[in-house]
Amino acid sequence: MLNFARCSGSRPVGCRYFSLLRDKNFIGGEWVAASSGKTFQVTNPVNDKVIGIAQDSTPEDAEKAIKVASGSFNMWADLPAKEKGIKLKSLLKLVNSHSDDLAKLITAECGKPLAEAKAEVMYSAGYLEWYAEEAKRIYGEVLAPPNNTRELVVLKEPIGVVGFITPWNFPLAMLVRKAAAALAAGCVCVARPAEDTPFSALALAALVEKAGFPAGTFNVVTSSRSQAGPIGQALCASPQVAGISFTGSTAVGKILYQQCANTVKRLGLELGGNASYIIFPTADLSRAVQGVMGSKFRNAGQACVATNRVLVHESVFDKFSSMLATAVKTQLVSGDGFDPAVNQGPLINEQQFQKVDGIVKDAVSKGARVVSGGGIHPTLKGRFYQPTVLSNITEDMKIYNEEIFGPICPLYKFYSEDEAVTIANSTRRGLANYFYSNDYAQVWRVAKRLESGMVGVNEGLISAAEAPFGGVKESGFGREGSRHGVDDYVHTKYVCFGGLQN
Ligand code: ADP
Repeated sequence: MLNFARCSGSRPVGCRYFSLLRDKNFIGGEWVAASSGKTFQVTNPVNDKVIGIAQDSTPEDAEKAIKVASGSFNMWADLPAKEKGIKLKSLLKLVNSHSDDLAKLITAECGKPLAEAKAEVMYSAGYLEWYAEEAKRIYGEVLAPPNNTRELVVLKEPIGVVGFITPWNFPLAMLVRKAAAALAAGCVCVARPAEDTPFSALALAALVEKAGFPAGTFNVVTSSRSQAGPIGQALCASPQVAGISFTGSTAVGKILYQQCANTVKRLGLELGGNASYIIFPTADLSRAVQGVMGSKFRNAGQACVATNRVLVHESVFDKFSSMLATAVKTQLVSGDGFDPAVNQGPLINEQQFQKVDGIVKDAVSKGARVVSGGGIHPTLKGRFYQPTVLSNITEDMKIYNEEIFGPICPLYKFYSEDEAVTIANSTRRGLANYFYSNDYAQVWRVAKRLESGMVGVNEGLISAAEAPFGGVKESGFGREGSRHGVDDYVHTKYVCFGGLQN
C-alpha cells in the first residue's frame, strides 16, 4: 500500500511513484505559478490524503496561455504534416515508456484500479498513434470546375487556438483524445483539466515538454472548482480562441454552448449519456453478463458511455438477473486501486457519492427490489458504494431518468422489440446503446433504430482510436477519434483559381 503522506507537499522530489508530478501551470513551455499566488490541494479519493498541490489559476492565467498559444499558432500550423506526426510519435514513445508512472498518477487522483489506469494509458497511446499517422492524411480536394477557365480547390486549414475543458473520470485519455487530433490538424491548445484530477494533464505536459513540442503549442492551466466557471467563460469569450472542446456534464455543456454564441466559436461537446443495454431472447447470456460487467462496472460506473439501464426480455429475465447477481457478488472487489485484487475503486467525491446514494434510496423507497448490494459499503471506510443490482424499476424513480455515474445496475423487464427500442430512445441523451441478440435481422434493424452516436452489438466496450466517439441529442455533437476526429479542428476553405483561359 502506498504511503501518500510521503508524496504530499508541493513537489515530491524523489517520490518514486509520482515522477511526473508537476505543481505549476504549463504556459509557453514554462512551469509557472498562478498569478493570484493561490494553490489548492488535490486528494486521493480512497483516503482523502493530499497527493499534491496545484495552481488555483484565474482567467488572467488562461488569457496568458491563450496569448502564447496564439503566438505559436502560425509556426505550428506551417510545420509540414510529416513533422507534426514525428512530434506526436515522440510523445507516443514517451507516454509508452512512462506508462507505469502515468497509470499510478491516474489511480492516485481518480481512484480507479491500477489495471484500468494502465488500460487508460494504452487507450490514450492509441489516439496518439492514430493522429501521428493521420496528420499526413488531412486532405483537401480538387473539384471538377463548371468551365475550363477555373480550377476549384478545397483546403483544410487548422482553426487556430482551441480550448479544452476535461473531466476527472478519464483524466489522461479525455485530454489526449482532443489534443492529439488538434495538434495533428495544426491547432494549438489551452487545456483546463478537472479540479479533482489536474496531475494527469500536467504529467502529459511534462512529456510534451520532453518530446520537444515548440513552446506555446500545448498549455495547461489548472484551477479549483471555484475558478472553473470564470476560466471557462474566459476561453469561450476570447476572440483569440477559435474553438472549444468539452467533455463533461450536459448541464455545463449547455452553459458553454451559450457562452460560445457571442464569438460564434467552433464547439465539440461530448456530454452525458443514458445508455441502454438490451438483452433479447436469442442473446448469449454468458457473454451478455460479461459485457455488462465491463460496460456498467468499469471505473465503478463513472463513465459517460456506461450502461445506465439494462433492459431484459421477460423470457430470460430471471435467468439473466441471477447470473448477473452471481457475477457481481463473485467478481467485484472494492478497495484501494493500488491493491492488485481490487477492481472497484471509490466514487470520486462526496457530491457524486451522495448523488448515487440518493438515487438508490429513492428507487428502494418507491418499490425497487435489491438483487445485490444496495448501499454504502459495509466495511470499507470512505466513498465506497457496493456494486448494486436493482429490479422492479418504475418510471417515477430518479434512476429511470438520471445518469447514475456509479456502480448501480437497474434491470427492467420488456416484452417486445418495439417496447425495448422505445424505452431506449425515450431520453434526451443519445451517446451509446448496447444490445445482445443472435437474430440476424433484428441485429441490423435495432442497430439502425437506436438513437445514439454509438451502438455496441454483442459488445459492451466499444471505444477505440479507430472509431468516431460522440453523441446525438443532448449528448452533444462532434466526434473524437477516427478520421472524423480532425473535423472539429479544421476549416474548409474553397479557393477558386480563375482566368485560366489560354
Ligand atoms: P462532472 O459532473 O463530471 O464533474 P462537470 O461538467 O461538472 O462534470 O465537469 C466537467 C469539467 O467541467 C470539469 O473540469 C469541471 O471543473 C468543469 N466545469 C464545471 N463547471 C464549469 C463551467 N461553468 N464552465 C466551464 N467548466 C466548468
